[in-house]
Amino acid sequence: MFTRRSFLVASVAASALLATGQAMAEDKGLIGISMPTKSSTRWISDGESMVKEFTALGYDTDLQFAENDIPNQLAQIENMVTKGAKVLIIAAIDGTTLSDILQKAHDAGVKVFAYDRLISKTENVDYYTTFDNFGVGVLQAKSLVEGLKSKGAGPYNVELFGGSPDDTNAFYFYDGAMSVLQPMIDAKEVVIASGQMGMDKVGTLRWDGAVAQARMDNLLSANYTDKKVNGVLAPYDGLSMGIISSLKGVGYGSADQPMPVVTGQDAELPSVKSMMADEQYSTVFKDTRELAKVTAKMVDTVLQGGEPEINDTKTYNNGVKIVPSYLLTPYSVGKGDITKMLVDSGYYTADQINN
Ligand code: BGC
Repeated sequence: MFTRRSFLVASVAASALLATGQAMAEDKGLIGISMPTKSSTRWISDGESMVKEFTALGYDTDLQFAENDIPNQLAQIENMVTKGAKVLIIAAIDGTTLSDILQKAHDAGVKVFAYDRLISKTENVDYYTTFDNFGVGVLQAKSLVEGLKSKGAGPYNVELFGGSPDDTNAFYFYDGAMSVLQPMIDAKEVVIASGQMGMDKVGTLRWDGAVAQARMDNLLSANYTDKKVNGVLAPYDGLSMGIISSLKGVGYGSADQPMPVVTGQDAELPSVKSMMADEQYSTVFKDTRELAKVTAKMVDTVLQGGEPEINDTKTYNNGVKIVPSYLLTPYSVGKGDITKMLVDSGYYTADQINN
């Protein structure tokens, strides 16, 4: 007899079946996503975009931020492996510190993707997804030179900043920039008044804006009491903001002491606003949504047993092997490009930029 109770039982069973069916269709496994810090908005966007992409593909995700603390990142990754992650996607704080945990991951059959920061000194990294990092440096230096020329004839007084020496990207950015600047330095069109050149002198540990600000303070007081600095090569928006604070502190950014040309990278909101206010001159836009999409697609292909598309098999030697890579294109953005590149593309809303 069809009672109310049996109807209920039947419909609960049916929906359980449906739920299981859905879960089965969607339960493609766990992806561990380890990002370095929330102190820079780009990594938050990267993390969020990846969760979105993987969820749409039917995966579960474990997204963690390590707040630039290496033991923290190691513990988070270890935990992902323990939880049974099938793939780890890692933007390392220090690319040389992961060998032991990645050996464990490899032994457990976990695939490893280095995400926008190369993982060094280990065999156990399968793929690298990133942007053309040398190209980023070229864009930064070209924009610096364009800005300098737009303000008058040289020679120009310039100071150089590099990124974190424990991140291989920092060297690619610096080398790319120097491929443009070194010939101008040789021709004395660009003068580095402090004489500080080379990543060992200009690197900024952990990409820390406060460290860059302190170094800029020192550069200004030691070298620029009787002349003006005209340009600063800054490889990352967080450093640009520190450098600009230092410059403002000694009176740059006024009619008789114009703000030097300061570059950047990542199109972070404070820097975009600074560009709107004619302080920072340019940034490099790397569309983190695209990087997340490409990475998720590659991961899915690998987990289905396929060969993911790569477009670079030569550049990224991690000290043990050349890591097969997929490089996306970075774009230089000046004040005049903000609407087209950052608002029309939906990366920011006009409100975010104007308020
Ligand atoms: C990334 C840059 C970023 C920097 C600081 C680098 O590894 O490639 O986009 O500006 O880290 O977070």
